[in-house]
Order: sequence, then C-alpha cells, then structure tokens
Amino acid sequence: MTGPSVVIIGAGVVGAALADELSARGWTDVTVVDQGDVPATGGSSSHAPGLVFQINGSKTMTEMARYTVEKFVELDSFHQVGGLEVATTPERLAELRRRHGWATSWGIETHLLSAEESVARHSLLDPGTVLGGLYIPTDGLAKAVKAVDAQLARARSRGVRVLARHEVLDITTEGGRVKAVVTDRGDIPADLVVCCAGIWGPKVARMVGMDLPLTPLAHQLAWTGQVPDLAGQSVEVSRPILRHQDADLYYRERFDTLGIGYYGHRPMPISADDILSVDEAEVMPSVLTFTPDDFADAWTETRRLLPSTRSAKVEEGINGLFSFTTDHLPLMGESRDVEGFWVAEAVWVTHSAGVGRAMAEWLVDGHCSSFDLHECDVNRFEPHQIAPDYVRARGCQNYVEVYDIIHPLQPMEEPRPLRTSPFHTRQRELGAMFLEASGWERPQWYEANAPLVAGRDIPPPGGWAARYWSPIVGAEAQATRESVALYDMTALKRLEVSGPGAVAFLQRLTTGDVDKSVGSVTYCLLLDVDGGIRSDVTVARLGPQEFQVGANGNLDLDWFDRHRPADVFVRDITPGTCCVGVWGPKARDLVQPLTRADLKALRYFRGTRTHLGNVPVTMLRLSYVGELGWEIYTTADLGLKLWDTLWQAGQDHLGPQGVIAGGRGAFTSLRLEKGYRSFGTDMTFEHDPYEAGLGFAVKLDKGDFIGREALLARKESVTRKLACLLTDEVVMGKEPVYDGDRPVGYVTSAAYGHTIGRAIAYAWLPAPLATPGQTVHIGYFDRRVEAVVAEEPLFDPAMTRLRG
Ligand SMILES: Cc1cc2nc3c(=O)[nH]c(=O)nc-3n(C[C@H](O)[C@H](O)[C@H](O)COP(=O)(O)OP(=O)(O)OC[C@H]3O[C@@H](n4cnc5c(N)ncnc54)[C@H](O)[C@@H]3O)c2cc1C
Repeated sequence: MTGPSVVIIGAGVVGAALADELSARGWTDVTVVDQGDVPATGGSSSHAPGLVFQINGSKTMTEMARYTVEKFVELDSFHQVGGLEVATTPERLAELRRRHGWATSWGIETHLLSAEESVARHSLLDPGTVLGGLYIPTDGLAKAVKAVDAQLARARSRGVRVLARHEVLDITTEGGRVKAVVTDRGDIPADLVVCCAGIWGPKVARMVGMDLPLTPLAHQLAWTGQVPDLAGQSVEVSRPILRHQDADLYYRERFDTLGIGYYGHRPMPISADDILSVDEAEVMPSVLTFTPDDFADAWTETRRLLPSTRSAKVEEGINGLFSFTTDHLPLMGESRDVEGFWVAEAVWVTHSAGVGRAMAEWLVDGHCSSFDLHECDVNRFEPHQIAPDYVRARGCQNYVEVYDIIHPLQPMEEPRPLRTSPFHTRQRELGAMFLEASGWERPQWYEANAPLVAGRDIPPPGGWAARYWSPIVGAEAQATRESVALYDMTALKRLEVSGPGAVAFLQRLTTGDVDKSVGSVTYCLLLDVDGGIRSDVTVARLGPQEFQVGANGNLDLDWFDRHRPADVFVRDITPGTCCVGVWGPKARDLVQPLTRADLKALRYFRGTRTHLGNVPVTMLRLSYVGELGWEIYTTADLGLKLWDTLWQAGQDHLGPQGVIAGGRGAFTSLRLEKGYRSFGTDMTFEHDPYEAGLGFAVKLDKGDFIGREALLARKESVTRKLACLLTDEVVMGKEPVYDGDRPVGYVTSAAYGHTIGRAIAYAWLPAPLATPGQTVHIGYFDRRVEAVVAEEPLFDPAMTRLRG
C-alpha cells in the first residue's frame, strides 16, 4: 500500500472514477465505502439513462466530458452513437450555432444540419417540426453502472478495498483534521476523506460541519412501450441521443422503446435528510414515485416531435433524484475548515471520469494540471451563496433553466437584490440599469446619461451583442475620456493582509516585489505551483505590516488562508468597505479641491490615506480604464457621503454633466482599449503570465515565490498567446477563431472601443499567428467575421493619460 490512507464515500460513478484514477497514480491505500450494494448502489448513477452531450459553455466542463467519453470507450462502457440537438424555433437555431461555436472553440467536432439532414440522422423526427440540428459525432450513451464496475475492478486490482453495505454515520476529526470514518460496521482510519456521496453530499459534509451548497431535485424519466418504428431493433441503441431543448426534453433508445427525460415540470427539491435509506426505499433511495401529471406536456410534445410515438404508451417512469448547484457547476476541493475533507459533488455521468482525474491529480500532485478548476472549486462561493434559502432557490431555478438560452450578461431574477453598494440609492436615482456580479447590483449604464448620446457616433452592435446594451454605454465611455466619471468598483474583492509576516507572505505568494515603501501599489499575479495564473491582484502597502489586496474572488481569500502562517492575518474587507473609481482627464479638477493632500504629487501606482471633505479615504492611483484618477475606498457607512461629496464637487467645479456616473458597459469598452486582462475571462489557471502577456508582472529576480520554478521552464516554451484583434463587428466571447478553415483559438473578451471606433476582441491564438497584421476570422453564429491582430494597447500606448 502506498500513499496516505484515503476513504472515498460513495461508489457511484464519481467515487469509482476517483478510486481508479488515484490507484493509477500509485495511491492504493484507498477504501471506497457505500451504503448500498456495488455497483448498483441505489444512488443516481444506478438509474441514469447515461446521455453524454459534451458541449458546454464552460471549456473545463467540455474537456471533462471529452475525457469521460474517451475513458468510457476504452472501458467498453459507451455506445458512441453521436448526439443530435434539434431546433424547432429560430431562436434555438441561432443558439445551436452558438453552441457549435463553443464546441469548435473547445476542440469538439460538431456539424450544423439542415432539417432534412437532421431527420436523416434520426428518422423518428417529424420533418415538419424540426428547423435544423447540431450533430456531435463523439457523443453517446454511457453505461453508468458498467463504468462503475469497470473502474472499481481496475482499482481493486491495484489494491483498493471496496466495502458495500457500509453506511457512513460520522466523520471524526482531531485538531482540525479528519481522523476516521465511522460506519455502521466499524471505524476506518483516514488521512483523507473524499465525499462522493451525490445527493447525500450535504448530509455527509455536515458530519464535519461543512455547508455544501447543493440541492437534490427530482427529475422525470419515463420509458415508452414499443415504438412502432423501432419494432424489431435488436441493438440497444442505433440512432444518436437526442435533445429537444425548446421543450426541455431529451431522448434515448432502449431496443424498441424510448427513454424520455423532462426538465419542464415544476421543480421538486428535497432535503438530503429526507432521502430514504437503501432498505426503506421501494425501488432505490434515489428514485421517487413517478407523477404522471407532471409529465403530461412532455408526452404531448413528444408525440408532436416523434410521430411514431403517437401509437405508443408511457409504460414506466421515475422521479429520479440528482444534484443541482447554484451555478450549474460541480463542487470540488477541500473544506476550508477541516483539513483532509474533500468533496467531488454535483457531477453528471457526463463529466464523471474527468472529475475523477482532476481530483486525483489535485490530491496526489497538489494541483490539477489537466483541467482549469477555477469554476468548480467548492470554495468559490460568497457567504450569501451558501445560505440554505439561496441554495434551494438557485438550484430550483437552474433546474428550470437547464436548457434555456441564456445570454452571458443575463442576471438571475431571484433572489435580488442581494448585495447593494452604499451608492445604490443614488444609482437608482440616476436610472441605473442593474446587472448582477457576485450578488452585487452593478450598473451597466445610467439612463440619466441619455442626453449625452446626441451628436455622438455610437454604432449599434448586431445580434446578441445588442442585448443588455444601450447607446448610452458608448456615450459614457467617450465622456470618461473627455471629462470624468464615477465607476462603482465595490464588487471587486478586497482583502486586508497584515501582521509581522505579511511582507514575507506576499513575497512568497505573488509574482511582484511588494517589499517597497509604504504607499506603493504593485500589480502582480498569484500563481499555482505549475506556474498557472490563479489570479491577478493589486497589492497596496498601507503600512509597514499592512496591505490591501485588490483581488478577484473568494478563491483568492481561500488561497491566502491556506498558505497563511500564524503571524499573518487575512480579512475580507469587501462587505464593510466600498470603492469608487474616479477616472478621466478632469479627475484631478474634481477631487483636488476636496482634500489637503497634494494629488499632483501622488504618482501613478502610489496610494495614500487622506480625507475628501468629511470622508476618510484610501486613494490608490490606478485605473482600469486608462485615464488619470484613483480608486477611492472608504468604509460602507460613509460610502453614500463619499458619492455625494464627489457628485457635489462635480457640480461646484465642473458644472452640470461635468461628472457623470459610468456603468460596466463603458468600463469594459475602456478596459479593452487599454488591453487590461480580466481573470476568469481572458486568462485562467491553465495560462501562464508569458502567454497572457503579463510577463511584466513577474519579478523572477526577487527571490523564490510559488510557481517560480515552473515559470522558468514555461517562459521558454510559449506556444499560444492572448492576442488583441480588431474587427468590424462586436462579438460576445467564447467564439472560435479560424485561420482559413482551421479552428485555431477562441475569443475571451469583446466590446466596441468607443474611442478608437473599432470593435475589439481578445483571443487565444497559436503564438505564430499572434503577430500584428495577421488576418484571422471569428465564427459568430452563422458568419465569419474578419479580424486582424493589432499591436496593443490600442489606446494611449505612451501612458500619457495615466501618468499625466
Ligand atoms: C433521472 C435521471 C437522469 C439522469 N440522466 C443523466 C444523463 O443522461 N446524463 C448524465 O450525465 N447524468 C444524468 N443524470 C445525473 C447523474 O445520474 C448523476 O449526476 C450522477 O450519477 C451522480 O453520480 P455520483 O457518483 O455523484 O452519485 P451517486 O451515483 O448517487 O453515488 C453516490 C453514492 O454515495 C453513497 N452514499 C451516500 N451517502 C452515504 C453514506 N452516508 N455512507 C455510505 N455511502 C453513501 C450512495 O449510496 C451512492 O452510491 C441523471 C440523473 C437522474 C436522476
């Protein structure tokens, strides 16, 4: 036996994948326990119809699905019959083109089909109902129980123990670490425990005091009797698996019958505590009694789409339970509070082997090198996002929306508003059009700025880019470059790092040299051990042992907490503070009269503490929009006063419309003109600083820091680059980029540059193509948009605006 002793709770498709992947990496002191029989345990994997559609807006989820397909094919647990998604409305047809774009971006072969071609692929379809389709040759049907069995068999052959009929009743800890798993048949000592308990996850996590934001929901799956056109079919499945998202339906064959899955019914959440035990459950714990009334519309629609079912009957059905999260993504990683307690939860069969591999790499190597997990980390949530009411409401909403066409900017409708900045009242008075970011209400533009539009050249974008858009966005962007604007930056994560060890700690965790004078501000990166970017941050030294870190999200806090020695304190000050960006050529005219500090003497990337009128503030001379100005922070109680003070100063010193409020739409346009990268969109864990064009933020000669060693090698082998493209059409992000007919990369951020008068897109490209002047094409729905790689930044490369 080698490796630490690991107990995996759950022998479903996730636990089995993990056992296989861990043991393949030499960790064989592994015990898989399950309350049910193995391999058909009574969990969700035991009755999953097994459809594997790989395309997903998330690159990570698509890559995990692709790995699952490849592995299941190898395990002879997959019918690779292809997948077909059909459109019955023009909107869905457009959506299928968008999905074709995602697939191409993430490297999955797909084909857009006409109505006739769709029917040729799936002869049960009604030619009069279908407008077109998207065909994915490598999709298909997973045999989940067979895959569990095969993966557990491999694990067993390497020494892994599999204990069926062992119910985990508790997990003991000692000194904040897991110690043993208590089952109804005795205790199992453990260095590491991984919860792969599916819908029971919240119950198991609670054994160590962890709130797992997951909701088990019942989902309807019905089986027909014989369908005439399938009569005599001797193979289990011959046609592609089928999705009819316009009606929340999917289909698979089972010899001469059809399985029908339905997401269109009312959400049916249940509590993990209310799931029956293996022995109490009539069929199995994850199966509730079918409620035919909820299925009525599904059956009507099925008979319309697939005429051959009109003479068939629904013969059986279940309301089967599986897990939903607040953002459709899985929950992976280690508890923040209990060392050694890990989760791999809310995972579909589709992604299961990929998740197993990711978890195994993470556990064995300390980080995952195959997939970027920033969207999946269980510690990504803000505190309000694990409130039980929120978790349930969002889980139910995500169930309803599982096949909906969602615009990237579309905010959740409920529960809102959740987090409001102190400027909220004034923003409403200015007619803010609010979208949402990490629960914060964030203005996209302000209707009060409508008069600014007159006389300006603001071309309207087309298609999807025209949604959540107004010409006011362009007017705000231009007005910022002409005058001065207030941007609410409260939603950005702010951490206070302090204590005797703060300097050494930040030197170790960041790529920058932060050991500079009090008042210095340093833009740098947090890297993982493999040199991948975990975040980009601004580190402001406010005292000898006190720093304020402008970060990206909760994972930064988690990363700091995990590495923090006892003499360093890390505090999330985001909720108790607020921030307004005051930016534009007239920023100094606006703010200087309010303070005794000499703002001319406060140089670029320097900060100070002072007062603006009655308000104590921290001012950092930084700008995401490329203009003179400051991020100005104060405590939440004084936020409204800060806004009013600045606003009044605008009226007093600059006249009406001298200062405006600017929204996120304008901000993004200005940001891209300056080429400032956004973590999570432009770069993620999988990219290194040199590829992302952020090599300037890495001080290799400052001494050791996390990721440095790996970077030394990566620096010499850059094969892809984040490039700036100029086009004539505004795209959305995630579109594929082609060199001729060959897909070579994908778009990250996109917006119209209202100063430069061109549409901008940032995209990952092979390094040889990322050279200024190179022409490529972006696949935007059904069109190819010409784009040319440009020198960056597009605006004010000499930085005269920022340094002025
Ligand atoms: C009707 C239906 C249709 C679906 N269709 C698809 C589909 O087409 N494609 C797709 O990709 N996904 C589908 N899914 C989702 C998919 O089935 C699940 O997401 C997946 O099977 C979850 O796997 P798991 O290993 O996490 O959970 P499970 O398979 O539920 O395994 C968890 C295991 O943990 C064990 N356990 C829990 N608590 C304890 C304890 N205290 N002690 C010991 N053991 C414990 C359970 O017994 C169980 O075996 C469907 C789900 C349903 C319900």
